[in-house]
Amino acid sequence: MIPSILPTYNRAPMTFVKGEGAWLIEEDGTRYLDLGAGIAVNALGHAHPKLVAALTEQAGLLWHTSNLYNIPGQQELADRLTEATFADTVFFTNSGTEACELAVKMARKYWSETDDPRTEIIAFTGSFHGRSAAGIAAAGSEKMTKGFGPLLPGFTHLPFGDHDALHAALTDRIAAVILEPVQGEGGIVPVPDQCLKGLRDLCDETGALLIFDEVQCGMGRTGRLFAHEWSGIAPDIMMVAKGIGGGFPLGAVLATEEAACGMTAGTHGSTYGGNPLAMAVGNAVMETVAEPAFLDEVNRKAGALRQKLEGLVAGHPEVFEAVRGSGLMLGLKCKVTNTDVVSAGYAQHVLTVPAGDNVVRLLPPLTITDDEIAEAVNRLDRAAAALAPA
Ligand SMILES: *Cc1c(COP(=O)(O)O)cnc(C)c1O
Repeated sequence: MIPSILPTYNRAPMTFVKGEGAWLIEEDGTRYLDLGAGIAVNALGHAHPKLVAALTEQAGLLWHTSNLYNIPGQQELADRLTEATFADTVFFTNSGTEACELAVKMARKYWSETDDPRTEIIAFTGSFHGRSAAGIAAAGSEKMTKGFGPLLPGFTHLPFGDHDALHAALTDRIAAVILEPVQGEGGIVPVPDQCLKGLRDLCDETGALLIFDEVQCGMGRTGRLFAHEWSGIAPDIMMVAKGIGGGFPLGAVLATEEAACGMTAGTHGSTYGGNPLAMAVGNAVMETVAEPAFLDEVNRKAGALRQKLEGLVAGHPEVFEAVRGSGLMLGLKCKVTNTDVVSAGYAQHVLTVPAGDNVVRLLPPLTITDDEIAEAVNRLDRAAAALAPA
């Protein structure tokens, strides 16, 4: 008999009823150190007092009005985001995959307004853009698309990191290129800064719009507000979600005035998108994460975690191959099966997340403390030892 919850997830056996910072707690009081943060969502950890206050205060005032009326929190958050980034304008969604839908629509609408309409979008193998029709068509992996055809047409998939293929495919017939500056689900794979610069140049030469999916790598995760900032170049359109809501469902599409020029009244919408509750939390997250001192701390702690993980890998060469990633978006490339490492972590009460390419992902709350970092690596060390007894 089918479970009353549609069985699309293989869930781990834990049930958490409370969260405190970097900790998740079961009914019987068992505490797990959370290096997954709800898949890079709980950027400020669980039950952050500032977010709790922002949400509860708004909950007593007004939950929802729809976008038929002005929402002051949207103006505030859009101003914060445009001030802090390349973007001139923002649309709020409820999730990352809705941001993908709009990014694709916006790029095609842009070209439809010209006398040179283009529709084709280049995407890369190993990418992830969510589970909506546009998201799975963009990412293109068989795992996500099988049985769901016919797929949204107009996507060309190139092997990740193949410069020759990119040069050959990125012609003046291409509407847009979509990629994650650091692939998340694909296994924590940063795109080198030089490649992002080269891609920006190619897009400028051909007119193609550059779309960055910073749903996972954005909002301070890599130690800059957005990961592409490390490279010094900027996209035309950017998808944001996960960390921006700190656990409240929230996403956004940021764009330049030029890229957004086709999106006039009536061309897109969302009943919930940017509702007062989401905006209260989003503003509180943004106010905290965009602070230079906060990002300095992320970088400092990321350095400490990475150094300890290098030691972990060196100490367990039969379990781990390497550490990779950027900031507090780190991956342990495994020699044993990655899900076995994640399960061994559960036994030590430390939570990690599997990713593609046999990687274990570490995406702790950006507020994790030095002591918690040390404790987390101790627990991973015991997990690795349990997998491969000396
Ligand atoms: C999680 C993710 C998405 C999809 O976000 P949802 O909120 O699950 O729809 C899209 N792109 C990237 C890079 C992601 O990590």
